[in-house]
Amino acid sequence: MRNDIEKILITEAEIQEKIKQLGEQISKDYKEKKPVLICILKGGIVFLSDLMMNISTHIELDFMSLSSYGDSTKSSGVVKIKKDIDVDISNRDVIIIEDIVDTGLTLKYIDDYFMQHKPASIKICALLDKPKAHLIDIKIDYVGFEVGNEFVVGYGLDYAQKYRNLPYIGILKKEIYS
Ligand code: 5GP
Repeated sequence: MRNDIEKILITEAEIQEKIKQLGEQISKDYKEKKPVLICILKGGIVFLSDLMMNISTHIELDFMSLSSYGDSTKSSGVVKIKKDIDVDISNRDVIIIEDIVDTGLTLKYIDDYFMQHKPASIKICALLDKPKAHLIDIKIDYVGFEVGNEFVVGYGLDYAQKYRNLPYIGILKKEIYS
């Protein structure tokens, strides 16, 4: 599997250091509160599990699954809920945990959808952001790293459901796509 990687963009140590900082910031911002962390499956799961260990306040967890790229590397722009949240988020502080923001369309959809439940607040926490790929204006409250428009894998992110179990973020060799 590791032979398929062209280049490591963000090392395991860099990710862990950044997650420590994000956890400290969230712990400060939500002191005395109990936010609901809503992880967007499947890509956000690795980030969530490391991040929550670095949050010192009480939290609650929930999960949401949406249709995404299928086995391609291009956004379809079509978002569909495959698994909805179970927690009642009305009057709750919500933090959306996302692996990567590309066009921003998925997050816009989720944000609009959650707003209908009248939460006390919603913030977005993404490990990676592709600012040049945004198609809409979206505010990401907690960002790990900014990356370019290349397709990345590892640390929860897949290509055709593979490579999620790499401990770093990397780019695949071109021949893997062909
Ligand atoms: P958006 O709606 O912002 O265009 O897309 C968000 C979703 O697309 C992410 O949650 C992720 O599942 C997928 N995605 C976007 N860019 C990448 C990428 O570079 N690599 C991988 N593996 N998935 C990506």
